[in-house]
Amino acid sequence: MGGAEGIVGEYEALLCEADADLLAMQVGDFYEFFGEAAHRVHDALGLQLSEKPSGGERYPMAGVPVAEIDRYVAALVDRGYRVAIADQREGPEGIERAVERVVTPGTTLEGEASGHLVALAQEDGRLGVAAIDARGGRARVDRAHAVTDAEDVVEVLESLDLAEVLLGPSVAGHERLEERLDVPVVAGDPDAFGRRGVERVHEHFGEEVGAALGLAGVTVAALGGALGYLERTDASALATVSRLERYRGADAVALDATTLRNLEVLETFHGERDGSLLGVLDHTTTAAGRRHLGEWLRRPTRDVDVLEHRLDAVEALVGAPLARDAIAEALAGTYDLARVATRVARGSAGPRDLGRARDTLRAVPAVRTAVDGDPDLVDSAVDEWLAGAEHGPIPDLASELDAALVDDPPPTASAGGLIRRGYDDALDEAIERHETLEAWFEELPEREAAAHGFDAVELGRTQTAGHFLQLPAAELDRVPDHYDRIGTVSAGVRFRTDELGERERELAAATERRVAMETAAFEALCDEVADAREALAAAGRALAGLDVRLALATHAAANGWTRPAFRDDGVIAIDRGRHPVVEQTTRFVPNDVRFDERRAIHLVTGPNMSGKSTYLRQVALIVLLAQVGSFVPAERAAVSPVDGIFTRVGALDELAEGRSTFMVEMQELARILHHASADSLVVLDEVGRGTATYDGLSLAWAATEFLHNRVRTKALFATHYHELTALADHLEGVCNRHVAVEETDDDVVFLREVRPGASDRSYGIHVADMAGVPAPVVDRATAVLERIREERALEARGRDRGTTQVVFDLDAGDLRTADDPAIGPDAEAILEAIESLDLARERPIDLLERIRDWQRRLDGA
Ligand code: ADP
Repeated sequence: MGGAEGIVGEYEALLCEADADLLAMQVGDFYEFFGEAAHRVHDALGLQLSEKPSGGERYPMAGVPVAEIDRYVAALVDRGYRVAIADQREGPEGIERAVERVVTPGTTLEGEASGHLVALAQEDGRLGVAAIDARGGRARVDRAHAVTDAEDVVEVLESLDLAEVLLGPSVAGHERLEERLDVPVVAGDPDAFGRRGVERVHEHFGEEVGAALGLAGVTVAALGGALGYLERTDASALATVSRLERYRGADAVALDATTLRNLEVLETFHGERDGSLLGVLDHTTTAAGRRHLGEWLRRPTRDVDVLEHRLDAVEALVGAPLARDAIAEALAGTYDLARVATRVARGSAGPRDLGRARDTLRAVPAVRTAVDGDPDLVDSAVDEWLAGAEHGPIPDLASELDAALVDDPPPTASAGGLIRRGYDDALDEAIERHETLEAWFEELPEREAAAHGFDAVELGRTQTAGHFLQLPAAELDRVPDHYDRIGTVSAGVRFRTDELGERERELAAATERRVAMETAAFEALCDEVADAREALAAAGRALAGLDVRLALATHAAANGWTRPAFRDDGVIAIDRGRHPVVEQTTRFVPNDVRFDERRAIHLVTGPNMSGKSTYLRQVALIVLLAQVGSFVPAERAAVSPVDGIFTRVGALDELAEGRSTFMVEMQELARILHHASADSLVVLDEVGRGTATYDGLSLAWAATEFLHNRVRTKALFATHYHELTALADHLEGVCNRHVAVEETDDDVVFLREVRPGASDRSYGIHVADMAGVPAPVVDRATAVLERIREERALEARGRDRGTTQVVFDLDAGDLRTADDPAIGPDAEAILEAIESLDLARERPIDLLERIRDWQRRLDGA
């Protein structure tokens, strides 16, 4: 070992070369962290700090025993660090150290967290996205996204399951991304995203892959960058990435990060899983199943065949409560097979990994028994799905592992003890021999005590002396002649015999032979598992998929959910729907909704706290659940699949992020107006609240017209602008809904019932009255409100570009159109007359006469 300065200098050089956040460098039996890195691991994991003196300075240092490094690295990576590992080797010039691999959040196979390494490349306003799912041994590519700024990039990223983000050279807004995402953001090596990247993609997946999957150039660049990064951090991990899939097919439903957040799909506004849709539905029993459920919720689909197939399985399971319990029990002891297979393929697996594969594959026949024992499940979609875990090499591999491994395998193969008796005759013999010798040593003190009358003889062993018998001084007079005295310690005197030496040599040989044979058997098993990798990954997916279907069925059965039907005429009809999360804690009042030609846009009014937001969200969540393949909280639901769910609701965290709320509101509105289509579902919970009333009302009004006339989408729009409800009279696809309340003398009772028609007022002044605001103020407010209404005239523009004037009629207390009889045919005739006047030919005196006539006519009317 060199001096401190040498070590610390070497450390710094390696850390720099590795381009990682931390370096664990092997020094003898420890991995050490020095300097700043030592402080960081101390802060992160509470590792003890010591000091290494060097050249008059003292360097902080923290160390981890070699055997424990994996655990510590995993914990550091879980905290978002990229950790390089430098091992030491005996080289021709003494000890040499080199960085073997860099473990990063996006490439690690350890830890419970899920998440992808996502690489981005950008060119001409198009963003290519490629992700590596290291645990699943696959790469995934997304369609190219149109982006203009860093905010768009954040939007794209937030809907993905991220562990680490890798940026190509031309992707803008590194700092912004780092600020907004809570995963590491790394600048990639520009070359890896260029020609070298394309070569890597071709080497790895074949020359034709771009064309076969219809990938854009930027997407190939991103994929190349991702592969390059993986190769650099851990070449063996690269070798295990064998599949390339599309992230989202053509049938994917657009569901952006904002919407996931607004609907509290994966977590609540407060960032908690409890109380989110995922939290409520999560009856999964395995980690893989839990991840799978999250993926379903993140990526609903429009592919009705897929949905019906999922629903068939859920329905079958809903009807089979006993089998459900049995399957859940069988799945409870399983592990993520894809992950085990990946570890084996990259050579980092130990006997316990094989044990996990074995335990998991054992669950398959147990599940099979449960399925076959239930008439509802035989030949059902569950049966079919389960077959995915039973095909190809799987059954053979399962019985091989079963026969080969002991029940509780040791962590490493290096000491043997992992292969079961009866697996291999030659090995049995070796084990027998080894164990006989071990027993000989174990029983030796007892035998010697009996033979020579010892009371306190002990067997001991040291590295240098080997095995020995130890006797206290008081018994020395009974020691026979053939005992060779080899030393004295305070507790007694140590002896060896010739026989002991002989047996010791035999034991060493037997141990070596046994371990060599067990290691060979272990390696052969690993090869078998590695060869069956694809099938194992498929089996893992089948089990995780079964876990998800089971979870959905369990929830549906416990909460009275029903199977949704699909239709293709654009209609969505939900009878007595409920909010999936709110119904868990409240006596929920169910509500209907129907979207069709005449009721495409629903304007929902009602006082504060009446239940508008809940209603909006419940409709969106029911549609989402249907398009995930889940049962839904409704008495009946028929859904024409939507191509996107877009939401805009006031969020809590915006202020905290220092973004102007109104600006954010308008950005979200802009996105929706740009991206929603006729097949989308739009949920607007208040628009325009963040600005002056007139601005806000005008924007809300114009946005509704745009959604109705141009986008022709389905929308639910909760608004406190009571004036907006007039649109229902003028736009054929707009209708009013209100949440009913019952007024008593001094109170308002919320009925939570959504009924046709607009609520009859906005209740603001009413609530002020109830709250005890003095009567003169309430009266004056009422008068002011009326004056304001009186002075306002709005026009509604329909799809046919026709325009109607809408004015406020004080007497009727409502808005009415300009072609109402109140304006009358007379007025219209006069307007026409004015229009056709030829001023050049009329004498002033005649003009005066005509004007007087018009005035008389208008007066008369
Ligand atoms: P708004 O958007 O009109 O201000 P919310 O949707 O936030 O009102 O609902 C207010 C409260 O009423 C919430 O606590 C919610 O749980 C409850 N609530 C809403 N809808 C229902 C319903 N259909 N049945 C029972 N409780 C409801």
